[in-house]
Amino acid sequence: MEARLRQAGHFARPLVLALLLAPWAAPGLAGPAGRGPSPTDIDALARDVEPKVVAWRRDIHQHPELGNREFRTAALVAAHLRSLGLEVTTGVARTGVVAILRGRSASPVVALRADMDALPVKELADVPYASRARAEYNGREVDVMHACGHDAHTAILMGVAEVLSARRGTLRGSVKLIFQPAEDSRPDGEDGGAAAMIRANVLDEPKVDAIFGLHAAPLPHGTIGYRPEGAMAGVSVFTISVEGRQTHGAMPWAGVDPIPIAAQIILGLQTIVSRQLDLTAAPAILTIGTLAAGTQNNIIPARVEMTGTLRTFTPAAREDVATRIRRTAEAIARGAGGSATVSFSDNATPVVFNDPALTAQMVPVLERVAGRGRLREISPLTVGEDFAFYQEKVPGLFFFLGTNAPGADPAKAAPNHSPHFTVDDSALVFGVRALASLAVSYLEDPRTK
Ligand SMILES: [Zn+2]
Ligand SMILES: [Zn+2]
Repeated sequence: MEARLRQAGHFARPLVLALLLAPWAAPGLAGPAGRGPSPTDIDALARDVEPKVVAWRRDIHQHPELGNREFRTAALVAAHLRSLGLEVTTGVARTGVVAILRGRSASPVVALRADMDALPVKELADVPYASRARAEYNGREVDVMHACGHDAHTAILMGVAEVLSARRGTLRGSVKLIFQPAEDSRPDGEDGGAAAMIRANVLDEPKVDAIFGLHAAPLPHGTIGYRPEGAMAGVSVFTISVEGRQTHGAMPWAGVDPIPIAAQIILGLQTIVSRQLDLTAAPAILTIGTLAAGTQNNIIPARVEMTGTLRTFTPAAREDVATRIRRTAEAIARGAGGSATVSFSDNATPVVFNDPALTAQMVPVLERVAGRGRLREISPLTVGEDFAFYQEKVPGLFFFLGTNAPGADPAKAAPNHSPHFTVDDSALVFGVRALASLAVSYLEDPRTK
């Protein structure tokens, strides 16, 4: 947090100089010699590749694969990247694919990330390329569908690779293309996703200076949603064990009943969010999702176990609420003669934290792609995204692309993870233009390096 805030202070100084020099200030001009491709050049290249992006997206959609099992998808991606003459590494963190596109200098390095996994959802969308795939997941046979738009993310980044490859001789720096497995689905007990990609050194060799990513969302067609700083929740999972003393259900005074203690703890936890947090600063969500105790109606059990999820928008808020959860649970249990133990699981997802200086720098780029009035600052989302792990290491910006059909009512659009979720083909080109433009713009002016 501290480092990121310091970077924000550097933002104003180079701004004037950058505006004077940036080819981006003069849309319509082809980049002069020694400059990267102009915005209009990128747009034209994106339109050229659009039919391929649509075809790739439909193909991937018809052949969805669950997390850590994206074998066919990864092979398709790797073959395309190799056909562009890029240096390609496969099998990164199981099925990940990483490619380096070297421009006319080695640095700076900007990374672009797509995720490739589908979900255990039975497709009900009325599209000609609907999935009929089935697979084994946690020991069960399930239907599989790209119900979160990762098929679109993968196809878009394949298109971006082609656009930037066509102008690689003019790029000032390198672009690292990261195709990540297992963002949304992976079987219990398996690791993977962004954290595993980072452990496999995707942010090093060569070292990445900034990273961009997007997510398909049921926003109006071609609009872009973004939010500086905390954009998607940090997600923590916790367990609370309440210990009492077992006795006969007819003689509660002979033991310590953990069930009313657990009930009081649940209500006490709800007052942390409603009575103790400044909700005008940032929201927080605290949900108890499971509660387990007892074997029979006339036995007061020895213990109750509950699990829950905590969602917050800054690392400091997570620590603060975690402390309050412990304090509340332990004190309530102690007051009733029992005890409570709170433990947080290791696999928390951090906050999707968009670097404020990088976001401010890139807002004009996104606005040009979306069109006037079609770039929107959105409310924070209480779902998580493992793109956050990259942003813990390097400045990053994660944004949302409206993939509804033109004219569709966003209030009626099926949300991500719905069996009716659809991505409109004609929205994909906005994603290609956005990611390619962000990469080129950053390489021309890497302020947050
Ligand atoms: Zn999802
Ligand atoms: Zn997703």
